[in-house]
Amino acid sequence: MSDALENVRFRSDMTVELVKASASDSDVLWAARVSTKGEQSLEDAGADPARSAGFINFLMRDRHGSPFEHSTMTFLVSAPIFVFREFMRHRVWSYNEESGRYRKLEPVFYVPGPDRNLVQEGKPGRYVFVPGTAEQHKIADEAVRQSCRDSYATYLELLEAGIAREVARTVLPVGIYSSMYATCNARALMHFLSLRTKREDSTFPSFPQREIEMVAEQMEAHFAELMPLTYASWQANGRVAP
Ligand SMILES: Cc1cc2nc3c(=O)[nH]c(=O)nc-3n(C[C@H](O)[C@H](O)[C@H](O)COP(=O)(O)OP(=O)(O)OC[C@H]3O[C@@H](n4cnc5c(N)ncnc54)[C@H](O)[C@@H]3O)c2cc1C
Repeated sequence: MSDALENVRFRSDMTVELVKASASDSDVLWAARVSTKGEQSLEDAGADPARSAGFINFLMRDRHGSPFEHSTMTFLVSAPIFVFREFMRHRVWSYNEESGRYRKLEPVFYVPGPDRNLVQEGKPGRYVFVPGTAEQHKIADEAVRQSCRDSYATYLELLEAGIAREVARTVLPVGIYSSMYATCNARALMHFLSLRTKREDSTFPSFPQREIEMVAEQMEAHFAELMPLTYASWQANGRVAP
């Protein structure tokens, strides 16, 4: 048992890998131009970049959202289960996650890093988080590590006693890491980013949990690279999804 517990790992990061994408600004343009050009719209997709930026901005500003749905991005995300629980509230995405019924869960747990603000101040919906003292960081770090090790030891005891994985996992905390594929289109991604990042320049600032924001920030970087005109326009329009 103690050998198995030596494998327990702690992380403070989230990883996001762009697995595949069919997403570019031209996807928005041909989809929107079918309104006026019919089947010729595809031929015009790459024409006149300056006009394209203006057209995308018009669609964004006036919230013509459906042309932003003809793209797809698939991400492989590694994050704690409490992040996935928030993530999966976003219903217009598609998900597949590793199973705690079909495989033994790896002992990888989240522990807040030294730069994670620990203390909550303010009122519901408008909390601010401040760093906390060195003592609070020490207490949190030690308690999380101890609790995760204890839980994982109990999980192993249950498995060794012949208890099914789907029952044994009951004792594991929501800080255990999981992995999932998450697929979305650009419109769904903009909506997700508007809610799961905190930016003062947003028209509707949100107050997300820091850990899901760490995932969102990495997705945002991929989005900015894949669809620069769409991204710039979304930014310029207060990060409101069309
Ligand atoms: C800061 C923050 C705090 C939160 N706190 C809580 C909390 O305390 N408790 C809690 O339960 N949740 C909480 N949530 C989750 C929140 O209520 C939403 O479930 C989550 O943000 C997903 O948003 P969504 O429904 O707009 O997105 P999606 O599910 O991705 O939907 C996208 C859009 O599609 C449309 N849509 C999708 N499904 C329907 C439907 N059934 N009917 C009509 N329109 C639909 C809507 O226009 C929606 O905006 C919180 C979210 C944030 C960002």
